[in-house]
Order: sequence, then C-alpha cells, then structure tokens
Amino acid sequence: MSAAPATLLEVRDLEVAYGSARALFGVSLDVPQGSVVAVLGANGAGKSSLAGAIAGTVTPKAGTVTFGGVDVTGLPAHRMCRAGVAYVPEDRNLFPHLSVRDNLWAQLRFSVPRAERRAALERALSLFPVLAERRNQGAGTLSGGEQQMLALARVLAAPPRLLIADEMSMGLAPRMVDVVFESLARIRDEGVTVLLVEQFVERALDLADVAVVLRHGRVVWSGPAADVGTDVLAEYLSGEASSAL
Ligand code: ATP
Repeated sequence: MSAAPATLLEVRDLEVAYGSARALFGVSLDVPQGSVVAVLGANGAGKSSLAGAIAGTVTPKAGTVTFGGVDVTGLPAHRMCRAGVAYVPEDRNLFPHLSVRDNLWAQLRFSVPRAERRAALERALSLFPVLAERRNQGAGTLSGGEQQMLALARVLAAPPRLLIADEMSMGLAPRMVDVVFESLARIRDEGVTVLLVEQFVERALDLADVAVVLRHGRVVWSGPAADVGTDVLAEYLSGEASSAL
C-alpha cells in the first residue's frame, strides 16, 4: 500500500474581512504535495480572497496557513515568494513599462541565485517562442494572451513549490486558454503543486485532482475532481460560473 502524499499546504479556519464586510468564514482545506487543487465558486464566493490570504497579499483576520509544515499565517507576499509560493493574480502583476526580458529578470532576482539567472531566463524564453521574439518589447504592449504567457514564463523560469493561479484564463481567446492549461499541465508535470482558481470549471476539473467549492465564503463541497457531477455544479455554481463550462 502506498503512503498518502504529504500535505504541502494546510489552511485552517481562515477568515478574511474587508472592513466590516466578511469574505471568508472559517475556510479549511488541504493541498497534497504534487497535486492540482481547483477552487471553484460563483463570482464573489471568496476565491480570490482565499488565494490572496495564502499568497500574502491579503491579511487574514483569523485562522492559520501552514506551508511545508511551517506556520506562515499573515506573512507578506515577498516572504511567501521566497518560501516557494508563486502567485499569479487575476491582474497578472506584470510591469507594463518594462520589457519582456526585464519582467523575467525582475522575478529571477528574487528567486534564483545570481549565477543561474541567465540560464533560467533563456529557459523561460525557449518555452514560449513568441516571448523570445518579443523579448525587448514592453510587457504592456503584448496581447492579453501573451501577457499571460509571460506570467507563466516567470513561474516556469524558477519553478516554485506551490503555484497559485487566479483566473489565468479570464478574458482570453480560446486558443490562449489552451496555452494556459497546457502550461499549467507542464508546470504540474515538473512537480509543482498547483492551487487553481478558475472560471472554466470543466477545464479546471480536467486538470485537477481535488476540487473545493466555495459559496458565500464557506466551503460547501470538497472531494476528488472526478466526483464533481452536474448535481454539484447545478447546486453551487450558479449563473456565470456554470455558463463557462
Ligand atoms: P470573482 O470571481 O468575482 O473574482 P471571488 O470568488 O474571487 O469573485 P472575492 O473577490 O474573494 O470573490 O470576493 C469575496 C467578497 O469580498 C465579495 O463580496 C467581494 O465584493 C468582497 N471583496 C473582495 N475584495 C474586496 C476589497 N478589496 N474590498 C472590499 N470588499 C472586497
């Protein structure tokens, strides 16, 4: 009998509030090492609040986040980055006035020893030929899909222990959505654990091992991604979310 994979990320009773408006009410979840966990939910369910509270861009009001066995609750984003958590937020977090190359460089300075940075940069560019062609172009002048490739290239240049990908396919053309999911699969195959917040429910479930469904800031369903049936989708993912199947 093989042992269950170790838990890389453990979230317990997490609460997030923006002033008097509460967004998460005691959310708990486990992310096993090497897995892809999809966080699903309709607009406003609390998905980005959960992602941000783990990545360190949102300070939780209560609860704990344990990463690799260490309590990292409330650590700021740059400390989480150093600990091995890459966060690709909804807005991609690129520097629009810097070139493609300098965007990659800025990330590598954080995460890769000096002597290895040049090779890591070339590796990232070789994965996305269109970025290599545009290495000197300002990131702000790239198309939405190309910007998302750049956000993923930054991750692949220095593979983290955990990638938190928040709605990476939002607003992209279908061909670019394919590129995003292919890249996420490649990242997973490299051994990176992935926490995936996605509006394309079916695509997310194809990639994920485990699904967690949020509603009004609470976990209402969790289990193997293969067990998410139409009943779960109909009950918990209303309106926009289920129309994105
Ligand atoms: P979406 O898919 O629309 O991004 P979501 O599931 O990611 O939604 P959150 O963005 O986490 O949900 O929002 C959860 C709740 O918190 C919502 O009611 C939202 O209006 C509120 N909220 C989120 N960010 C803020 C903020 N900066 N200030 C005030 N309220 C916020």
